[in-house]
Amino acid sequence: MSASATSAVLERFLRYARYDTQSDERSSTYPSTGKQLVLLQDLVTELQAVGLADAAIDEHGYVMATVPPTTPKPHVPTIGFIAHVDTSPELTGAGVTPIVHRHYDGRDLVLPDDPAVVLRLADNPALADQMGHDVVTASGTTLLGADDKAGVAEIVTAAAYLVAHPEVPHGPVRIAFTPDEEIGRGTAHFDVSRFGARCAYTMDGGSRGEVESESFSADAMTVTFHGFNTHPGYAKGRLVNAMKVAADFIQRLPDHILSPETTEGHEGFVHPYVLEGGVDRTVVKLLIRDFRTAGLREKEAMIDRLARTAASLRPGARVETTIVESYRNMKEVLDRHPEAIAHAHEAVRRAGLQVRTRSIRGGTDGSRLSFMGLPTPNLFAGEHNFHSRLEWVSAQDMEKAVDVIVHLCRVWEEASPA
Ligand SMILES: [Zn+2]
Repeated sequence: MSASATSAVLERFLRYARYDTQSDERSSTYPSTGKQLVLLQDLVTELQAVGLADAAIDEHGYVMATVPPTTPKPHVPTIGFIAHVDTSPELTGAGVTPIVHRHYDGRDLVLPDDPAVVLRLADNPALADQMGHDVVTASGTTLLGADDKAGVAEIVTAAAYLVAHPEVPHGPVRIAFTPDEEIGRGTAHFDVSRFGARCAYTMDGGSRGEVESESFSADAMTVTFHGFNTHPGYAKGRLVNAMKVAADFIQRLPDHILSPETTEGHEGFVHPYVLEGGVDRTVVKLLIRDFRTAGLREKEAMIDRLARTAASLRPGARVETTIVESYRNMKEVLDRHPEAIAHAHEAVRRAGLQVRTRSIRGGTDGSRLSFMGLPTPNLFAGEHNFHSRLEWVSAQDMEKAVDVIVHLCRVWEEASPA
């Protein structure tokens, strides 16, 4: 694609980065913060200006639009591209000042608003792939918001390219921009049937070439220990301290294995992350993660067993456990739609990149959408150091992501019968 596409996607990204679109998990409104609507509304205007006549925002803040088909073939499936506009509540998104470090050559990138914040090649091996590229960072006190405004900029730029190049054959292409992904609510009101796509791709991944079609399966587990409280001066033989039972339980949890701090790759884990309570009642909350849903059951049975063991050793103590499903490995759905992955690999190769497959040690909106009936793998957007003051993205990776989107639209068209 032409050099002007580079500047177009970079220009858009730099513009979007300045909007404060932080979401807020404590909010009970939808979207969680009104400020996300400012960017979402401006995106409607911009999509209309580049020629997507039906671009509109709904009452929940979802922006949807269509690139009309150019193919003469009657049955090319509709595909979609999705990105989220919100940024993480973990770090401020106000006053983001993006800085373009031209022609990166391995030098330390010192971020001027806090000179202690330095992006170093030694700590960021992925920067080795960026020699000669233009690396964008924030200024040292905020996140950058490449997660996921890089994805937003790539989709808008690809849509503008397709509209301006009707000679590129493709089927109907749907676009959606969503709020509140970072707080796990990005799909809460997503209308899959209105979106109307056979499959979709979230543009929300890392290094160029990445295609992610697998995520964790995840449950949340709550273990509640009940003791018995009475005046400690007259408690002999009567008081049962739920905190001590909980401490015994936590001591029994796997530590050198099956923990976030000791696992990587395809290994799952159990992770106690909240401990609260007192003598009468103490609650331990745990995250359960595994790539196999059956593996969740095994881990939950183990947790249940350890909790009962701890309680049984203190007469008078009781325990109960509850499990709530969080999300499931999207591979279970995507295995039934192999063309969605195969076409993504082909598009990455046509963009001159090597395909990298990766399993997400977490969930994405795509994990949820896949189970809502819209198979949705995740493609690279060029994001690095998510939710950090050292977040960065390169202009050239964003340009490659635009290429991949355009190729993907072509590949789906070519694969359809005439
Ligand atoms: Zn994201």
